[in-house]
Amino acid sequence: MHAPDYALLLDPPAFPAERYAALADRLAALMSTTNDVLLIQAEAVLALEAAATSLARPGLKALNIVTSPYGTWFGGWLEKGGATVRNLTASPARPVTLEEVERALDEGPDFDLLAIVHAESASGILNPLPAIAALARERGIVTLVDAVASIGGHAFDVDRLGIDIAVIGPQKALAGPAGISAISVSERAWTLLSHDGAPDNSMLSLMDQKKLWLDTGRGALPGTPAPLEFYALEAALDRIESEGLASANRRHKTAAAATRNGLMALGIPTWVEEAHASALVSTAILPDTLEARAFLAAVSQKQGADISGGVGPGAERLIRLNHTGRRAHRDAVKANILAFSGALKSLGHAANTDFALEAAENTYLDAPADGA
Ligand SMILES: *Cc1c(COP(=O)(O)O)cnc(C)c1O
Repeated sequence: MHAPDYALLLDPPAFPAERYAALADRLAALMSTTNDVLLIQAEAVLALEAAATSLARPGLKALNIVTSPYGTWFGGWLEKGGATVRNLTASPARPVTLEEVERALDEGPDFDLLAIVHAESASGILNPLPAIAALARERGIVTLVDAVASIGGHAFDVDRLGIDIAVIGPQKALAGPAGISAISVSERAWTLLSHDGAPDNSMLSLMDQKKLWLDTGRGALPGTPAPLEFYALEAALDRIESEGLASANRRHKTAAAATRNGLMALGIPTWVEEAHASALVSTAILPDTLEARAFLAAVSQKQGADISGGVGPGAERLIRLNHTGRRAHRDAVKANILAFSGALKSLGHAANTDFALEAAENTYLDAPADGA
């Protein structure tokens, strides 16, 4: 294989000013929303920090649900801005339950904001977002959802769920560039964002984005945008739209089921039951006799596998098999199973690789045809 010709990336033309609004509209369509969509010229963690920093003020009362390090950071940014934050931390590496959220809301105070991550790539869990969003809506609480990992891999209909602020990134299930992210903002959320202490003249200010881009007719973005990122986003949207979002969702679901079946055939339990598992990564529990570090060192990533350790408290003994984005495909799923089985065997643990690969393959034979 020849090395790619990176010189092709030099001297790109500016991204045409009239196409930014079209990109925002296409991202809005992926999120099924008529809310405003802001383009953030940075990786999605900055979009999350911008949302938290813009919302935070003394007197703001937030229920912040923590199911991974992302939630911990989000609560920290809110607190830094003077907000009163109740962190509701789920059992380590587990989804939060509706009952836990209901209890926290009942205990009060009267929260203005509820923040939650939809699906976690850190531990492979899926939070019960529809029920929690409905509960927050009933109580008139503004909702913020980190859907960076889930968009493209799970149904995420902002307007149907009534989500006020949604943060997404193209770099996970949408298989796009990591340098741009997006935030949808409802009318109710703009009201909460317009406060005296809101940051301005700041890259973290959503009000600046509103003033400088939305309210000026959505032409050129302020500053000097990175054109390569925008061309890459456009290409990623072309690809995902031509496949269809529903098909991408199904492709992830099938990859998760095939991975789960492959692991089961190896006698390896998965961390969460299917209803609470994300379709982005599957998490396996290592046999007690094996060390996570030794196992990961024994994994051969050579033939297209992508296997890593869990991230965050409670995930230390979990092994993640990545099937996000372009990896939500039979070849990548089987490469993961092959590598997982190979590592088990190299450490002296019995494993029937052929049986496991067949279990993964059979899942595809039974699944609706999605070209994966
Ligand atoms: C991936 C991800 C982000 C973005 O973080 P990076 O690790 O910098 O890509 C934010 N939130 C969630 C839930 C994610 O999975």
